Amino acid sequence: MRLYNTMGRVKQEFAPQHGNAVSMYVCGITAYDYCHIGHARSAVVFDVLVRYLRFKGYDVTFVRNFTDVDDKIIKRANELGVNSQEIAEKFIGEFYVDMDALNVLRADVEPKCTEHISEMIALTQGLIEKDHAYASPSGDVYFKVRSFADYGKLSGRNIEDLVSGARVEPGEEKRDPLDFALWKAAKPGEPSWQSPWGLGRPGWHLECSAMSEKYMALPLDIHGGGQDLAFPHHENEIAQSEAATGKEFAKFWVHNGFVQINSEKMSKSLGNFFTIRDILAKFLPETLRYFLLSMHYRSPLDFSFDALEESEKGVRRIYAALAQVDAALAATKWSKTPMPQDILDELAGYEQGFSEAFEDDLNTAAALGHLFGMVRLAGRVLDDKALRKAEAGRDLLARIRAGLAKWSGVLGVFGLEPELFLADLKACRAARAGIDAARVEALLSDRLDARKNKDFSRSDAIRDELAALRVEVKDTPQGQAWDVL
Ligand SMILES: [Zn+2]
Repeated sequence: MRLYNTMGRVKQEFAPQHGNAVSMYVCGITAYDYCHIGHARSAVVFDVLVRYLRFKGYDVTFVRNFTDVDDKIIKRANELGVNSQEIAEKFIGEFYVDMDALNVLRADVEPKCTEHISEMIALTQGLIEKDHAYASPSGDVYFKVRSFADYGKLSGRNIEDLVSGARVEPGEEKRDPLDFALWKAAKPGEPSWQSPWGLGRPGWHLECSAMSEKYMALPLDIHGGGQDLAFPHHENEIAQSEAATGKEFAKFWVHNGFVQINSEKMSKSLGNFFTIRDILAKFLPETLRYFLLSMHYRSPLDFSFDALEESEKGVRRIYAALAQVDAALAATKWSKTPMPQDILDELAGYEQGFSEAFEDDLNTAAALGHLFGMVRLAGRVLDDKALRKAEAGRDLLARIRAGLAKWSGVLGVFGLEPELFLADLKACRAARAGIDAARVEALLSDRLDARKNKDFSRSDAIRDELAALRVEVKDTPQGQAWDVL
C-alpha cells in the first residue's frame, strides 16, 4: 500500500517496521464542546485507515487520546461555573455518542491527559537534563526550539521564517520567542498537579509525546491527525520526543484535509459552523459517513446540505440495488443462460479498481466510483429477463453482494439490512420535508377505498393532495407505495 507521508511530502510504500504489527497514534479531541464536522472527517478517515490495515491482515494497535485539561476546557468550565473535569467528561461522553452513530470504532487505547501527568513530568525532566528545556522563575517549563536542529522538518518551515511570527505573550518567561511551553505554572482557579517546578499543568503538545511512547515503541509506524495539527502541534511533538529519546518519532505522518462550508473556512463567527449533532438531526449517520468518504482524505472537503443530499441519493441508490439483488437471489429456479464475457470482464475491472484505489493512498473516492460500477452492473443483470433468472446471473449477483459485504466492513457503510435502511431513510427524508407519515397513510387508505369504489376523480384528487404534501404515490403489484417527492 502506498501512503502519502507529510514528512518529505511523498507517497511511499507502507510497511510496518516489526513484522505484522502496526503502531498508530492519532491526536484526539480537546473535550470542551460538541464535535463538529471537521472532527467527524478526521475520525472517519483514520477509522477507515485502521479498518483497511486490519483487513490487510496487520495487527494494528491504535491509540487515540483525549485532551481533558486545556485552556479551552478551563475557560468553558469557568463560563458554566463547574469544574473542568466535569466538562471534559461530559464532552468525552458526547464524542462517543457521535462517533458510535458514525460507526467509528473505538481505539485500542484511549489515554487521557490527566491520567498521565507523571509520564509528562518525567519527559519534561529528561528534556531539562539534556538541556533541551528550562524552567522559568515562576515555574513554567519551556522547550528550547533552537536546541533541536531538525525543528520544522515536518511542516517545511525553517527557524528564520518562524522568528518573524514568534511572540512572547505577557506573563510568559521565554528566553527565546520561538520556545513553547511544556509545563505551565498554576494560575488561580485552574486544575494543577505537584511537580518539581511547583504546582502546574502540562502544555498541550506534551501529552501526545508522553502517551504515544507509553503505549507503543518509537518510532511509531503511523502518526495521524488533521492537517491543522501539522504545525505547530506535530512539529512540537517531534521536537519533544526526538530530543528526549534520540529516536525517530514516527515513520509515516498522515494528515487529513480541511473541511470547508460552502467554500468558506468554517468558523463560529461566520455562522457556518455545524456540529455532528446539527447534521444528524436532518440526515442519517450513514449518509454523513458516506459523504466524508466521497472525497480523497487529503483533499479539502466542501460541506453543504445540498452536497449531503447528493450523497444521500448515492447511498439510497446502492441500498435500493442491494434490496433488488437480495430479492432476486431469493428465487429458486435458475436457467442455464450463460453470462456474456464482457459483463464478467467489467466486474473484474471494478473489483480490481476498488482494491487498487485503496492501495493508492486510501483513495476512497475512487473506490466508491468502482463500487457504483458494480451496482450498475447488477442493475444490468437484473434488467435482463434471461440473465436475471440464470444460474450465471445468480452467481454474478451473489459475487457483487459478497464483495459489498466484504468492503462494507472497511468503509463502514453499506453493512445494514437494505430494506431496514431504506425504511429509515424514507422516514428521515419525510421528517426533513415536514411530511406527517400518519396523515399520508390515512390519505392512502382513502385513496384505496376510492379506487375500490371506482371513484377515480376522488382517487386523483387525493393523489393531488398528496403531491401538495410532497408525497409521490406509486401503484405497485404489492399495492400503494409512497415516497418523498
Ligand atoms: Zn497530538
